[in-house]
Amino acid sequence: MDELRELYQQVILDHNKNPRNFRKIEGANRKVEGYNPLCGDHYFIYMQLEDDVIKDLSFEGEGCAISKASASLMSSVLKGKTKAEAEMLFQRFHEVVTGRLDPTDHLEELGKLAVFAGVSEFPVRVKCATLAWHTMHAALNGRCETVSTE
Ligand code: ZN
Repeated sequence: MDELRELYQQVILDHNKNPRNFRKIEGANRKVEGYNPLCGDHYFIYMQLEDDVIKDLSFEGEGCAISKASASLMSSVLKGKTKAEAEMLFQRFHEVVTGRLDPTDHLEELGKLAVFAGVSEFPVRVKCATLAWHTMHAALNGRCETVSTE
């Protein structure tokens, strides 16, 4: 777990400095707004879903370091995944950040997402870490709305 904690810091720093897929997708067939009033995190998730495959995924907006790193990492992990795979990773990620799943048992499946286990020690940060995921989930299921963590 100590190794994961160190990696956690690195991933947060890296993805904040250099967020992946931080852009609009013109003509995206899914776009959902996500808001976490507790922290002020506010993002738009853009998704191009074709035949149940996430062809492209991006985000725009602003928020704290954890929310941004989470959105960035999520966008790079889920691109190219099927709807079913994305649903599974959404569940796993949620279990990891809420401390219900020991990531060291699922490292292969989780990859870099495992580092977010560090968030489980700070319950108030769980909403920051999961905001982009909840928003992505709404987009995946064809909802066009604003997702609030409250
Ligand atoms: Zn936040």
